[in-house]
This record gives sequence, structure tokens and C-alpha cells, in this order.
Amino acid sequence: MNAKVWLVGAGPGDPELLTLKAVRALREADVVLIDDLVNDAVLEHCPAARVISVGKRGGCRSTPQAFIHRLMLRYARHGKCVVRLKGGDPCIFGRGGEEAQWLREHGVEVELVNGITAGLAGATHCDIPLTLRGVARGVTLVTAHTQDESQVNWQALAQSGTTLVVYMGVAKLSEIREQLLAGGMAADMPVAMIENASLPHQRECRSHLSAMEHDAGAFELKSPAILVIGRVAAHAQQNLREQSLCG
Ligand code: SAH
Repeated sequence: MNAKVWLVGAGPGDPELLTLKAVRALREADVVLIDDLVNDAVLEHCPAARVISVGKRGGCRSTPQAFIHRLMLRYARHGKCVVRLKGGDPCIFGRGGEEAQWLREHGVEVELVNGITAGLAGATHCDIPLTLRGVARGVTLVTAHTQDESQVNWQALAQSGTTLVVYMGVAKLSEIREQLLAGGMAADMPVAMIENASLPHQRECRSHLSAMEHDAGAFELKSPAILVIGRVAAHAQQNLREQSLCG
């Protein structure tokens, strides 16, 4: 039997945002390796599977990547149907590309299944149209957390004219603000900071570039959160349902 691993996106949290293909993979799974940010509720689709938590949240106890690789390989080689379940989309800041490459190099067939990435879901749940016609010509998904020496070129992004959707930015608000201001972005550029997007306890904090760090502090913004920086962030309708306004 050919060894195979499904690398599946579980979406941002709301179990209804799982794709039908993800559900099919989960139903077939013998083993599910699950990340921290995945909502356990999606496991209702794989009641018989062995579920192994291999989370790696920044700053917390984490499972070494090499161990995750070996675990997937071992189960796949034993003929098990392995699902590697990741928050959001597996290839948006999710190491899906690395894992797929490693597995293929070791003779394992890989099938990638998209998930709805947190940045897109967060914006939608706050009624923010990321590429509103006449306001934003594009959208940039960017991480504020880089492990290698490469730095994000925030100053170039400030000039890009695209809406910026920032992942892993909560601890980097000061640096992001300074760099974007230095790059010429307007101090009053609207910013939405969205915590636990798509979940019942989603919270959103509306601010603007120069005040975002202060407002996030007053709001006690916590990870996981995304930032939406751009004029479109001011075009959102008031979401009175679960919204907490700050500032
Ligand atoms: N592959 C994931 C991203 C993993 S990186 C995806 O496509 O969504 C982890 C970062 O994603 C978090 O630090 C946070 O910035 C963001 N994130 C993940 N889930 C989130 C959620 N429900 N609400 C807000 N941000 C989230």
C-alpha cells in the first residue's frame, strides 16, 4: 500500500468553515496529528481515529518539527491513513510546504487540502471587504514573526497600496507601527485587530496606525489575533452582535 498523508486545513475555528474535502479526509483517518489552534469540535468527524496533539504555540512548550515529521512517516509507512490537521490553511504560515516536501522526499504521497485562513475569516467576520473596489487593489498576507534573519520590509509594504493582513503581530505592534510610519503610511490609517476570529468569543478592536499599540493594550488583545491595516478597515459596518469596541 502506498504511504499517504493528508495535510489538511481546519479553518480558523468555526467548525462550519471546514471544507467538505477536509471532512472526507477526517472520516477516513486512522491517525490525526492536530495543532493547537485547531478547534477540537472538528474532531467529531473522526470519532474512531487516534488523535495526537503536536501543537507549537510561540513561547509555549512545543513539539519539535523533526518529531512531527517522523511520527507522520511512521504511521504512513504502517499503512495508516494519516491526517495532519492545521489551523486555517496548511500553507499559510503553517509549515505545510515544509512538511509536504519532507514527506515526498521520504517517498510518502501527500495531498494538501485548503482551509480558510484566519486573516480572511477574521476580516469577513468583521464585515471588512479586504479588496473593496476603489479602495484597495490587493491584499498582502504577512507574518510579523520571522525565525531567520530575514526581516519584513514594512516600509515597502506601507507603499504597496494593498490592505495588510498581519499574522502573529500581537507582540510586535510597536515595531510594525514604527516601520509603517517610517515608510510613509498615514498615522490615521484604520486598523482592525481581531482576536479568535470566527469563534463565539471573537473580539475586535478598532483603532488607527498611530494608536494601535495603546488601544490593543487597553483592550488586552491576546493571541491568536490578526491585524487588518488599510482604508478598508474603516468601511466595515458595525457588527453589534459580538463586538467590543475599545478606545
Ligand atoms: N495556518 C494558519 C496560520 C498559522 S500562524 C492560518 O492559515 O490561519 C498562527 C497565527 O494565525 C496566529 O498567531 C494568529 O495571528 C493567526 N490566527 C490563527 N487562528 C486565528 C484566529 N482564530 N483568530 C485570529 N487570528 C488567528
